[in-house]
Amino acid sequence: MGSLHQGHQSLLALADRARAASGGQVLLSVFVNPLQFGPAEDFDRYPRDLEADAQLAAAAGADALFAPSAAEMYPGGPAELTRLQPPDSLVAGLCGRSRPGHFAGVATVVARLLALVRPDVLWLGEKDWQQLVVLRRLVADLGLPLQVRSGPTLRQADGLPLSSRNRYLSPGQQQQALALPRSLAAAAQQVQVGPQGGPSLGSLTEAVRSGLLQAGLVVDYVEAVEPRSLRPAETLQTSPLLLAAAAFCGTTRLIDHVFLMRRPPIVAIDGPAGAGKSTVTKAFAARLGLIYLDTGAMYRAVTWLVASAGVDPAEASAVAGLLVDLDLQLSTSAEGAQRVSINGQDVTEAIRSPEVTGQVSVVAAHGCVREALTRQQQAMGARGGLVAEGRDIGTAVFPDAELKVFLTATAAERARRRALDLAQRGFAVPELAELEAQIAERDHLDSSRAVAPLVQAADAVELITDGLSIGAVIDQLEGLFRERVPADAWPGPAQA
Ligand code: C5P
Repeated sequence: MGSLHQGHQSLLALADRARAASGGQVLLSVFVNPLQFGPAEDFDRYPRDLEADAQLAAAAGADALFAPSAAEMYPGGPAELTRLQPPDSLVAGLCGRSRPGHFAGVATVVARLLALVRPDVLWLGEKDWQQLVVLRRLVADLGLPLQVRSGPTLRQADGLPLSSRNRYLSPGQQQQALALPRSLAAAAQQVQVGPQGGPSLGSLTEAVRSGLLQAGLVVDYVEAVEPRSLRPAETLQTSPLLLAAAAFCGTTRLIDHVFLMRRPPIVAIDGPAGAGKSTVTKAFAARLGLIYLDTGAMYRAVTWLVASAGVDPAEASAVAGLLVDLDLQLSTSAEGAQRVSINGQDVTEAIRSPEVTGQVSVVAAHGCVREALTRQQQAMGARGGLVAEGRDIGTAVFPDAELKVFLTATAAERARRRALDLAQRGFAVPELAELEAQIAERDHLDSSRAVAPLVQAADAVELITDGLSIGAVIDQLEGLFRERVPADAWPGPAQA
């Protein structure tokens, strides 16, 4: 709605950076939308400064500024306009409760703007989290051909989130308003330091409410909800919860939120052989500042050990003998490549041989192998902050992962990728039909074994990667991640 500040500027910078990678142009719309203001709200006095907005937009890298008039946006007038109504589940609570019609006004204007501009990507801030959720749903429900991406909430040095409405506040009110970010931050802090047996959700919301009252603010709401569905949350959980509040400081209505998170996030990426998991998982982990855990490499290392010890891979008891005092290490070289060693020997390259690939599913099916490696993987993930890829991550290893993805592709596509991979590693490349048969065999063994078979977790998102570039898959993963773990909760690595 214009009256731009550094929050808008940071979104433009994100869009500008994304455009540098994938081309395109950045357009900024400025429109104070009458449909989203209630009769007693601040439509008339909402700050408007198109001249300053144009300067900021140009400086932040926008190619165009689109500032239509109300007559251009709604030629037939508001009474003649088709409107969009977001679902009650998303707008009955939080800001929707005291601003009836607000989100319908937002959805309607954004749909109209999207139809006029037809962007490939819509960038929105996390500051207005409910709005972001409503608009993501709008894009999904209408099947609009665009991606929604988001950027973090920017704050003043004292913690107050940037907002065009902050300019309504007197210096004294600015101080008073700090109770909002401060009491929310105190709640988030308590959750972080007390993983078990900490404060209840009810006591946290009460503490925020009394912090606001003590500062002389008039509380509209303090609510804890699940960030994607916006369903009210009853108890704290490992996945982030949104704790949001709105309060009046004088006549100015301010909103803010934090995410309550007990540990850094975990992402589980499962799927059949050759779906391209390792390439995208590695790049995704680097982009989000998460540790990358390749569990397949662990099963491969044990398989290498079985072969080099001359043990029959089908003999569970003989294989179990090798697991006593097993020393299996994953490390990252100075160049960022993963190294794998077992009992002191570096097997990074050896575990990719066709011989290991041919036997790994048999070895990985033994309960004793699964138990040992699952225990080690869970220990590695105990403090969170990682992306693990494998076959049973979302079902057996990290069932409480924030995001579970089942990454797959047709068998023909996977055979093609495997052939490329083998050629790159300097191995002989069999006929595609033979590779496809090998892949089908491994899929069958992995999905039919008794312990922790390869299956899509009930709450996993299926991503079929045929025809998608690696960059496109990573973008989709990032989009799915950010719906569940916002930048406000897990900023990721500092942007260079
Ligand atoms: O992913 P990658 O091809 O390296 O995995 C090799 C094999 O290791 C799989 O085919 C499967 O048999 C086994 N595996 C497993 N559980 C995991 C990861 C891999 O059983 N979490």
